[in-house]
Amino acid sequence: EIVLEGRRLTHSYGNTPVLGDVDVAVRAGEVVAVMGPSGSGKSTLLHLLAGLLKPDAGEVWLAGQRFDSLSERRRSDRRLRELGFVFQFGDLVPELTVGENVELPLRLLGTRPARARARAHEMLDRLGVVEHAGKRLSEVSGGQAQRAAVARALVHTPPVILADEPTGSLDTTTGELVLEAFVQAAKDQGTAVVLVTHELRVASWAARDVLLRDGRIVGATGATSGPPAT
Ligand code: ADP
Ligand code: ADP
Repeated sequence: EIVLEGRRLTHSYGNTPVLGDVDVAVRAGEVVAVMGPSGSGKSTLLHLLAGLLKPDAGEVWLAGQRFDSLSERRRSDRRLRELGFVFQFGDLVPELTVGENVELPLRLLGTRPARARARAHEMLDRLGVVEHAGKRLSEVSGGQAQRAAVARALVHTPPVILADEPTGSLDTTTGELVLEAFVQAAKDQGTAVVLVTHELRVASWAARDVLLRDGRIVGATGATSGPPAT
């Protein structure tokens, strides 16, 4: 079952084309790595799939429904419910504590405070940063903030996780906590995970990968590689 699909996605910044005719489809429970050199368009692809950028041409489909053409308001509503996004440079709220940041998606979805807090602590614990739950963002390291951002993306068990270099500032051991959390969500909840990385070691956790170069897909590996027939 395909939960997220980009069809012939094309994007330019001003006059500079950065993605051309990219097809990508992700199934429930699947972990896919998007690889490629710096500047090949990986982040742009992720932002298009998340509806954070609009494609110049092509379509994004989420859970069988057209996503990119929705109004900004409907896109943000669906993004909150159906997507967890880990940004490369972080977008946690600096005025809130680590724990409050992680609770945020649950609170926005109407979960009661005690339940939201318990669930946030459970995710922070899994990522090895629960002892920092009460600290402000300025009091934790970049790597700790990055793990909190991963906890926030997973906390409301969205059907799709999009993560941009989620282990970029982590050592091997803490990076593996993050990758284990993604794989566990895929296995236990059927979460579809799209992981941008330039590290082969990280990509080896994915069931398959898609290789971008100069904004085009130049390779794919794995049992179900390539866009499916529609
Ligand atoms: P990657 O994630 O693979 O490093 P990006 O998608 O970030 O690639 O970038 C692809 C290309 O688009 C690069 O040449 C980059 O410099 C350019 N680019 C990215 N974001 C912007 C932007 N906001 N404005 C202009 N150019 C951009
Ligand atoms: P360090 O203290 O490890 O040098 P930095 O603060 O320079 O870390 O950030 C390194 C990386 O950590 C960033 O590129 C980003 O991926 C991640 N990061 C930093 N701050 C945050 C944040 N607020 N939310 C999520 N990730 C973050």
